[in-house]
Amino acid sequence: MPRFVRATLALHGLLLLGLLVWPAQWPWLLALLVANHALITGLGLWPRSTWLGSNLRRLPAASSARGEVALTIDDGPDPALTPRVLDLLDAAGVKATFFCIGERVQRHPELAREILARGHELQSHSQRHRHNFSLLGPRGCAKELEAAQRSFEQVTGVTPRLFRAPAGLRNAFLAPVLHRLGLQLVSWTARGFDTRERDPARVLHRLTRQLRAGDILLLHDSNAALTLSGEPVVLAVLPELLRRLRTAGLHPVRLGDALALAPDAAAAKPLAAPALRRPASPGAIASKFSPPSSTA
Ligand SMILES: [Zn+2]
Repeated sequence: MPRFVRATLALHGLLLLGLLVWPAQWPWLLALLVANHALITGLGLWPRSTWLGSNLRRLPAASSARGEVALTIDDGPDPALTPRVLDLLDAAGVKATFFCIGERVQRHPELAREILARGHELQSHSQRHRHNFSLLGPRGCAKELEAAQRSFEQVTGVTPRLFRAPAGLRNAFLAPVLHRLGLQLVSWTARGFDTRERDPARVLHRLTRQLRAGDILLLHDSNAALTLSGEPVVLAVLPELLRRLRTAGLHPVRLGDALALAPDAAAAKPLAAPALRRPASPGAIASKFSPPSSTA
């Protein structure tokens, strides 16, 4: 359990004790409680925070030392964009990680399987990409993640091991659900805001201004902003981004390879098993890249 969450639980105990000992001081105790919860909410709106639980923001040291970076592509599969993104990646001989939405995987099963067949990785971006995801309680959060795991398993036979929260926003209920499902939270090092920004040069700048080995870069293969000439921004950015990575001597890899995750056993098993399989001890995944004590 992260130190901040432990401290929060301890604070709740102390406040309760305070209420029993000094009941007249309840307004101050309540104010402390409200401040604590405001802080939790604030941390949930900070996608790269590790205060609410383990959060992969860069590749592990061993992977960085090999000059690796990870290209991650969110929100698909999308019948108009995903095939074109796949073609651009193929042309450069690059493998990426697609954080797909469970509902879309069910709607476009052939595309989800195509992503895998072309050597890329599929991971979970929740079942419905709800915009109020960070406001869900423990049950709502579990439902979203479990439904996504089932969608991926039914369509591809592969159980996701990594999870990216919709818009990167979350709350304190997410970490225990991730732990139970054997999922590791992944955010990013840099994102281009390519669903909002129409200027490919600015998207590229955001992704590459501090480019270095170990970076996890985020683009989207759905809901793309359009350039002034009407081209989806991601398609305008990707070839130049891949060229810059090559020039910088960086090698794009799938996250699972960078993290040395074992190939998913479910791929060899019959499809559509109704029960969720727990692929591995989440501690084993987290320990590969979580500094033992840092909460930075
Ligand atoms: Zn998303």
